[in-house]
Amino acid sequence: MKDQRYPLTWNKDDFSIKIFCSIPNIATGIILKTSDAYFVVDPGDGILRDLNSEIGTKQILKISNIFVTHGHHDHIGGVWSLLTYLRVMRKSTPLTIHFPKGCVEIESIFNAFDQVYGNGLTYKINLNHIKKMDGFKTNNVTVEPFSVIHKEFLNDGSKRQVPALGYKFIYQNKSICYGGDTAYCDELVIQAKDSDLAIIEAGHEDEEPDDMHMTLAEAKSIGKSAKEYFLVHVPEK
Ligand SMILES: [Zn+2]
Ligand SMILES: [Zn+2]
Repeated sequence: MKDQRYPLTWNKDDFSIKIFCSIPNIATGIILKTSDAYFVVDPGDGILRDLNSEIGTKQILKISNIFVTHGHHDHIGGVWSLLTYLRVMRKSTPLTIHFPKGCVEIESIFNAFDQVYGNGLTYKINLNHIKKMDGFKTNNVTVEPFSVIHKEFLNDGSKRQVPALGYKFIYQNKSICYGGDTAYCDELVIQAKDSDLAIIEAGHEDEEPDDMHMTLAEAKSIGKSAKEYFLVHVPEK
């Protein structure tokens, strides 16, 4: 485990990841780079600013894929501005947004964007509603989505499970496992084990385990099964 001060960066050969931030209820923002591709993962508020300082105004147009773990605002707050920026700057290559099937937040943002700007848009937006946890390959990166357990409160105080995924990214025999927001679950345990890097949330406020986020102890126990790990989404005091 490394010091949890943002940004967190990790790289092996041509494969790298930079976590601009991951603060529960505020924002997440992650860029994944290979020798020929840029992916954005969980574009929360501030992602455009962070991408601009990281890769610059022109390179942002090369982003080919956005991976969303779930629809909570701290993971998708920057989607509208990113899509609009790409339009204003006349991106010409396609963009695919991957997200869990049933994520109404992404569907709603896309529908609204399409309604406002769909006419004459310079780039194509593909939506990948992920339901089956089959791996696929894009830009020479193998992507393995997996289901995680994450809930939210309804207005009456009850909780409901939200469509939520983690992703494993494999490139040139190196793997990064990102669990998104999740309670302790077997799927994450399996995926994180022996990864070159595991990015594990420790978003729970106290020591008593629950079904929304992980405690520090739970997160560390999974992180340690990987070759290296970052703990993210740790509540700020
Ligand atoms: Zn979150
Ligand atoms: Zn969440």
